[in-house]
Formats: sequence, C-alpha cells, structure tokens
Amino acid sequence: MSEASDGIEITEEFKVAEPTEKLIPTADPEKTVEAKATILPDDLRIFLRQETLVEIYEYSKTDLNHELGGVLVGTFHQWRGQLWIDVDGYIKAVKYVNTAASFKFTHDSFSAISREKERRFNDKPTLGWHHTHPGYGVFLSNYDRFIQEQFFNLPYNVALVVDPRASKFGFFQWKHGKIESCGFYFVRARSPAVAR
Ligand SMILES: [Zn+2]
Repeated sequence: MSEASDGIEITEEFKVAEPTEKLIPTADPEKTVEAKATILPDDLRIFLRQETLVEIYEYSKTDLNHELGGVLVGTFHQWRGQLWIDVDGYIKAVKYVNTAASFKFTHDSFSAISREKERRFNDKPTLGWHHTHPGYGVFLSNYDRFIQEQFFNLPYNVALVVDPRASKFGFFQWKHGKIESCGFYFVRARSPAVAR
C-alpha cells in the first residue's frame, strides 16, 4: 500500500450485490417521495426513509465537536434499466478513530458492522457510509475520497455527509469513476392513522 493508506487495514470484504428488478418508488402510486437537490437522468436513484434520516440526524447531533460515522444498509435494484437503492437501515460505527476534523473506520469497526448487519438486517448489502463534519460544511475531503475508493467503491456505494451544527447534509455517488455530489429521494413515513 502507498503511504496514503495512513495505516488502515484493508481486510474487510463487502459482498458485491447484483440489482434485482423492482418497481422504483417514483413510479409507484402507493408511495410518496420527494426529490431533494438535483437528480440527473443517469444518476443512481437514492431512496432514504424519513425514519432512517431522523436516526442518522439524531446520532449526528450527539457530538458537535468530533466527527461521527456509520454505514447505510439496504437493497440494490433496477427498474427498466434505472438503477436505484433503498436505504433502510443505519449502523453506527464503533471502535472508530476520530478527531474534530476526521473520521476513520478501523478493522474492528468493520467487523462489528458485519456482525450487526447479519443480526439486524439479514446481511443486506452495505450501500455506503455516513459521517459528520461538525461546523465545516458538506463536502468530501481528500481523505474521505480515499475512504470511498478503498471501502465503498461499488457502483451503488454512496456517501452521506452531515453537518450537525449547520443542520445540512448531502449525498455523493460515483459518476464515471469520480465521487460527486448528488440528490436523493426522501421517502416520507406512512401515517399509521391513514384510512383507506
Ligand atoms: Zn469528511
């Protein structure tokens, strides 16, 4: 490894998922989704549920002085050639190494994530990662890009950056071999009281 690896061990292997054919929520009259930020025609469609976003947001706000992180779990689909992911879970990283301006997964973080994924999510694929930038905005640093390339380099792997001080967040996805900012679809929680 080059010195840029900064001591990270590349030992955890994420399984590669193949997209299964499934009706995309934007074409499903039963679902209410809202496009957030700019979604381009060739973009991987990212669907994020309200409850998952709330969970991530609340966790992000538990430390306004150091970076926090975790992984996004869910399923990978296609609908008439359009690739999309359904983010339906979040796993907080443990045993990470962080500072005010950096977040690193360790081998132990990935092992713990693997175990929790198996236990809580029936071993669904890892769709990407989340980390916070307390007070310094939504972007990917060079080191974040390095993490993306090393651990989240599959076509359906995204990054979610949250600035818990500014209450801002944004997604990034692979486009033609580069990781770039992108929009997503917000999937509102169904009201349990809705009568049919
Ligand atoms: Zn970062």
